Amino acid sequence: MKIAMIGTGYVGLVSGVCFSDFGHEVVCVDKHEGKIAGLRDGRIPIYEPGLDALLARNVAEGRLSFTTDLAEAVHGADAVFIAVGTPSRRGDGHADLSYVYAAAEEIARSATAPTVVVTKSTVPVGTNREVARILRETRPEFAWGVASNPEFLREGAAIDDFMKPDRVVVGLDADGSDQARQVMGDIYKPLFLRDFPIVYTDLESAEMIKYAANAFLAIKITFINEVAALCEKVGADVKAVSKGIGLDGRIGAKFLHAGPGYGGSCFPKDTNAFAQTGQDFGQRLRLVESTIEVNEAVKARMVDKIAALSGGSLKGKTVTVLGVTFKPNTDDMRDAPALAIVPALQAAGATVRAVDPQGRREGEHLLPGVEWLDDPYVAAEGAHMVALLTEWNQFRALDLKRLAAAMAEPRLADLRNVYGPDEARAAGFLAYDAVGRQGFG
Ligand code: NAD
Repeated sequence: MKIAMIGTGYVGLVSGVCFSDFGHEVVCVDKHEGKIAGLRDGRIPIYEPGLDALLARNVAEGRLSFTTDLAEAVHGADAVFIAVGTPSRRGDGHADLSYVYAAAEEIARSATAPTVVVTKSTVPVGTNREVARILRETRPEFAWGVASNPEFLREGAAIDDFMKPDRVVVGLDADGSDQARQVMGDIYKPLFLRDFPIVYTDLESAEMIKYAANAFLAIKITFINEVAALCEKVGADVKAVSKGIGLDGRIGAKFLHAGPGYGGSCFPKDTNAFAQTGQDFGQRLRLVESTIEVNEAVKARMVDKIAALSGGSLKGKTVTVLGVTFKPNTDDMRDAPALAIVPALQAAGATVRAVDPQGRREGEHLLPGVEWLDDPYVAAEGAHMVALLTEWNQFRALDLKRLAAAMAEPRLADLRNVYGPDEARAAGFLAYDAVGRQGFG
């Protein structure tokens, strides 16, 4: 199959590389000239483990190429995937669909033959119908196929998620669905042959599946974060509570780790867009709305925790933040909890230093006034607090004695529950706090 992938970001690049590894011929398109020039030189614009080797192999074998010329990529393609961004629209929580619609129009204008247009971007109910309308209105002479194919990969584990998905969802339009169904079946055949489930449905249901899945996960994380706050009050340990409830097969152990609140490029914007869809259709999603609100409170609670651990005031204190990306194994800083927590610490009078294996490049733009260092022990020298915000492997097995010894006042805010009070006390920390557990000091 010949595939054009419009948008070469976290989703488009991984999808394009993986499709080429399935044996398809893929052309990845992006408007960003620097990105494409870099990719042609073998430079990957994002940090995603394993992507460089897979990309190099498929380029070398002649199945994968990069261009800024959308028309060139669309020419002769059996399917054109739209994988552009759908950020939150400024001012309200709606998804900004302008990139998706612009891409659909560009595809229609540049196509020399009818093709199947597949939306991989996360888009609210009704968007694929609008894409179909744009295609048919711009080029009425072509019998367009339209499919919705939301993506569920997780940054940091994206290749594995794409190659071994829990499911592939394909939404089809009643008009022209035979052609689209055939093309989608052929594209995903390598997964189908290995028995990964493919859910065929209508366009609206496919769009709903993506938002409902993300909202459910955001609710689950937020639930345990709220339970964690109560655990602290009543003397319970959220780690034991998570384990105890997660072993129930109906609940499941994943997404039950208490922490500083969800962030990233998907959950915040997708919960907002989902809540807006509910309001637009006069069917409010009150659980989702509450989740958004509680998640903001969770982040604010982290700032209060750090201040309390510092004796109530952060004025004149130096706080070393370990990890600023929204989770480990990505350089993505979009809506990371650090973007709320670090400025709040600075506003409370603290000087902030930060260490992050991949987040520094973005962090330098997004977090002004932060001093960046590469080594956690160096960053802890003379500090009054270490706050662990992202559980990178590098921060999971720190020599706590060495860390405490380097600090002016050894206090540890372990916002990912990596260590424990006993370990912190034994290492010489004066004060320790975690999320949903009993600290000291
Ligand atoms: P991104 O911002 O990393 O990438 C989008 C890319 O599209 C950018 O490089 C941009 O230059 C390019 N682009 C925009 N308009 C274009 C056009 N007309 N022609 C060519 N290129 C164009 O975004 P992302 O994180 O890859 O997300 C893409 C979509 O996938 C979003 O809807 C997102 O919600 C969804 N999604 C993301 C993830 C994730 O983990 N990042 C997971 C699942 C779904």
